[in-house]
Amino acid sequence: MNESGDQAIQSLQAEQVYRLLVDSVRDYAIFVLDPQGRIASWNAGAERLKGYEEEEVVGRHYGMFFPESDREAGRPDLHLELAARDGRLESEGWRIRKDGTRFWAHVVLTALYEDDRLIGFGKVTGDMTVERRARETLEQRERQLAEAQQLAHLGSWEWDVAEGRITWSDELFRIFGIEPGEAITYDRYLALLHPDDRDAVTQKIEAVLESGGSFVHEHRILRPDGEERWVQSRGELTLGDTGDPARIVGTTLDISDLKQAEARARRLAAERAARQEAERTAQRMGFLAEASALLGASLEYNETLRTVAWLAVPSFADWCAVDMVRPDGTLDRLAIAHMDPDRVALAWEIQRRYPPDPDDPSGVPHVIRTGEPELNEDVPPESLEAAAVDERHLELLRKLGIRSFIKVPIQVRDRSLGAITFVNAESDWRYGKEDLVVAQELAARAGLAIENAQLHAAEREARKHAESATKRTTRLQAITAGLSEAVTPEAVAAVIVDEGVAALGADSGLLVLARTPGKLRIVRSVGLPETVVDRYRDMAGDEAVPVAEAIRSGESVVLEDAEERRARFPETLDVARETGIQAVAAVPLRSGQGVIGGLVVGYRDSHRFAREDRQFLEAIARQCAQAMERAWLYETEHAAREAAEAASRAKSQFVAMMSHELRTPLAAIIGYQELLAEEISGPITEKQRQQLHRIRASATHLRDLINQILSLSRIEAGKEEVLREEVEIVSLVRDVTVMMQQEVENAGLALDVRLPDDPVTLETDAGKVRQILLNLLSNAVKFTDEGGVTVRLDVDGEKARIAVGDSGIGIALADRDRIFDAFTQVDQSMTRQAGGSGLGLPVSRRLARLLGGELTLESRPSEGSTFTLELPA
Ligand code: ADP
Repeated sequence: MNESGDQAIQSLQAEQVYRLLVDSVRDYAIFVLDPQGRIASWNAGAERLKGYEEEEVVGRHYGMFFPESDREAGRPDLHLELAARDGRLESEGWRIRKDGTRFWAHVVLTALYEDDRLIGFGKVTGDMTVERRARETLEQRERQLAEAQQLAHLGSWEWDVAEGRITWSDELFRIFGIEPGEAITYDRYLALLHPDDRDAVTQKIEAVLESGGSFVHEHRILRPDGEERWVQSRGELTLGDTGDPARIVGTTLDISDLKQAEARARRLAAERAARQEAERTAQRMGFLAEASALLGASLEYNETLRTVAWLAVPSFADWCAVDMVRPDGTLDRLAIAHMDPDRVALAWEIQRRYPPDPDDPSGVPHVIRTGEPELNEDVPPESLEAAAVDERHLELLRKLGIRSFIKVPIQVRDRSLGAITFVNAESDWRYGKEDLVVAQELAARAGLAIENAQLHAAEREARKHAESATKRTTRLQAITAGLSEAVTPEAVAAVIVDEGVAALGADSGLLVLARTPGKLRIVRSVGLPETVVDRYRDMAGDEAVPVAEAIRSGESVVLEDAEERRARFPETLDVARETGIQAVAAVPLRSGQGVIGGLVVGYRDSHRFAREDRQFLEAIARQCAQAMERAWLYETEHAAREAAEAASRAKSQFVAMMSHELRTPLAAIIGYQELLAEEISGPITEKQRQQLHRIRASATHLRDLINQILSLSRIEAGKEEVLREEVEIVSLVRDVTVMMQQEVENAGLALDVRLPDDPVTLETDAGKVRQILLNLLSNAVKFTDEGGVTVRLDVDGEKARIAVGDSGIGIALADRDRIFDAFTQVDQSMTRQAGGSGLGLPVSRRLARLLGGELTLESRPSEGSTFTLELPA
């Protein structure tokens, strides 16, 4: 064969082989491109892969199979360029089928040269979609695992024991602080362990290698950079087919952060505990300081202890109670303190329902008896059951939630006066020795405060005693003085209640009288609300109140505090609340007639009535009873006098009227007698004349008498009217003496009249002055047998004095006042002889007084009398 023939055959053969090959390959698209990228040949694989027939694609640019974005990026031509430059280009990418679906293509593009001239490209494309998906999934899994490991700081490893090969995950490299990919040997691994933990780790591994199974171990590693870290390693041995150890698979978890967090948490907890303890100590000390200051500052220790109890919650206790021993040995619970008022009410309820037994072998009574404090750090629930009296008690005790408590006695010179109980419940704090020390310290200070207060009180009591004794005397004097002026029962009550309350320093006072049997009446009250007083103003004698009781029994009733009141007068608890009065003392008012009422003093707070207080109250009650009786007598007498005066006024009116009625017929008798005597109706005999004279004398006497009576009754009835006129007194006196001249001379007496030369004018009632002077002159004539009658008028700046004197029988000293009383005559026989009514002087004196003057008398029996009329000038 020649060379060209051989070549031709060879090339033909090659061509055929090639064709055969290419066509038989159905899984790959194999085709040829011309240098410009146009499709020159097509095979069955290409047809299957891309869905195009040969005639549909030959001559078209191969870029048609690229996604549009690749085409736009010029990728088809770029590939050709690269393939032409390097001879071959292997790439992967999406390609588009005829039906528009995509597949992931693996493409090998080979440049075809002939004598260094590019004649085209061979192109082999495989569909790698499935592989690609699988690879993607795997990659994702690996990535996720790595991420998970990284996140968890969890590395994984595998040690092929037979082969001696160790594989680490990336995260494990990171945990150990070395570059991923470094070859790891068992020795290298051991070198990375912390020297102190190395033995322990190898022992674990060897144990597993020897007897199988698995291990978990926490240990430290030492990174090349020197950092120490904590890891937790797990491993499990897998045996080979022969039963020999094949490999150990395991994980290593970086737990340094966890360890650190743990350590930090431990440190924080310790710090918090220390801080709490410090705060607690500060609170305890603060409480102690505050409570001590309070105890030191006040002498009212009961009140102070109450305050201390409230101060204790919640800084030192959830509950605090204070008990004091009463004189009778029972316990007085002063205070129960808790932040929640409902719980305080609950505790009081327990206290009320189940009062402590002073002989109780445990609890507060025991602490008080022994003087030994009690600390219960943790109260077991069974102890409540033991302490409870019954089911209900147990239920209530459980509600208190007592978890831990301290009871300390309050002592004064080795004697327990009470106890303080501190309880922890919901705050979850348990008392310890330090708390007991604080509680004891507090109790000791309370004891000191009480002793101090008691000393003070004793001293104050003594001083008060001395002071009050003098003060009371002064008060008693004031009461006596006040009572001497008080004439009505109301005035007496006012003095007693007001002064009594002031003297005793009381807050209220009350006086009740029992004038009507079975009935009581409040006549005076101070310091009490008017509404309450009005309600009790008129009460029955059997009313259940202290004062009624005192009046009924005749004995004092003393209630020193609310407790006594509750025991003896439970019905009055409401009134006590309304009035705010706690303590009272009611004493009966006893007089000759029995108990006539009651006196009450009250105090807002509990009050101890000392012996002196009671004695003082009883003293003023006695005074009050006497004064009250006197006032009643006065009232009675006053009423009688009123009645008598009214009767007398009626009599005077009657007399005045009667006298007037008598005067008219008398005037007629006198008138007709005069007509007869003057013989106007005809001549009369001497005998008749004498009889007429007697008629006249009797009638005139009767007229005078009537006039006097009328005058007196007018004066007594207050009906006598007084004129005020300018009166020239000198001529008035002269006129009267002239009028009497004849009568005096008829009696054989001399009349001596001495008057001022100048006229004197007075403002007075001339008629009444004349009436008085006539009375005096006619008396002077009547009671003088021999000698004479004198009349004198003296006027000085203030007074005019008219004196009518005689040298007659005179008036005995004993009679000098009497003769001014109506219808009084010294000597009946004498008067019968001289005539008279006994009304002249009484009328004259009353008239003189009506004129603002006076009628006085000077006399010597048997020598004569001088009556002097004084008139204001
Ligand atoms: P009578 O109308 O009785 O005089 P009087 O009241 O005038 O009433 O006087 C009362 C009594 O006072 C007289 O009864 C007389 O006893 C006594 N008496 C009054 N004036 C004199 C006098 N001048 N001398 C002595 N006794 C007098």
